[in-house]
Amino acid sequence: MIDHLGTFYICTTCYNDLKNGMCTVEKYNLPTSYGSLKGRIVLRQDLNDEIVDLNICPLCAKSSLVKHAVSLDLWSASTVSPDLDDYKQWAIDLIEKTIEERISHGFEYPPGSGHIFGLKTRGAINWLGLLVTASAQDYVSAPPKVDSEDGTFTLVMNSANEVTTVVLLAMYTVKQHLDAGGNAQREIRSNTATTVEQVDAILNQYL
Ligand SMILES: [Zn+2]
Repeated sequence: MIDHLGTFYICTTCYNDLKNGMCTVEKYNLPTSYGSLKGRIVLRQDLNDEIVDLNICPLCAKSSLVKHAVSLDLWSASTVSPDLDDYKQWAIDLIEKTIEERISHGFEYPPGSGHIFGLKTRGAINWLGLLVTASAQDYVSAPPKVDSEDGTFTLVMNSANEVTTVVLLAMYTVKQHLDAGGNAQREIRSNTATTVEQVDAILNQYL
């Protein structure tokens, strides 16, 4: 079920994906001998050895700074069948990380504007707190302001209605991610998912 792939220097994007458990064989450019296998690449060991070298990243095949030394394993589902309960738990954990990752991407307001507001911002904006104080706010002399995630735009809210709209959108975004992930986790946990392939199908639909 687990194959040791070896030690590689990889790019920061792939490194972060690995730490999030997001690396599938389909997504990455593995040696041909692994190319036809279904499965996922997992981080066996973070070797904590940084070099800075412009090279081709062996995972994504892009030319970039490959600076993270890692030891990689391949969890292949198609060669040997993993223990179903282990695989279910692994899939459930992966969904949990994905939920957090999707929430961390924030939400766009106004829709279509390209302005992204964080749900885990550096400033830890308390969206609910904004809602609690909304009716007592002085919108003429001190309208509430929130900076977009990249700091290039400041949203000035001119009414309690707008505060409500923005905060509800923030809460709705979190709820959508929690619901979608929670449903997939429930499906995987349920007794109707009886094979690794069924777990994969649920996972792939969700991811
Ligand atoms: Zn890469």
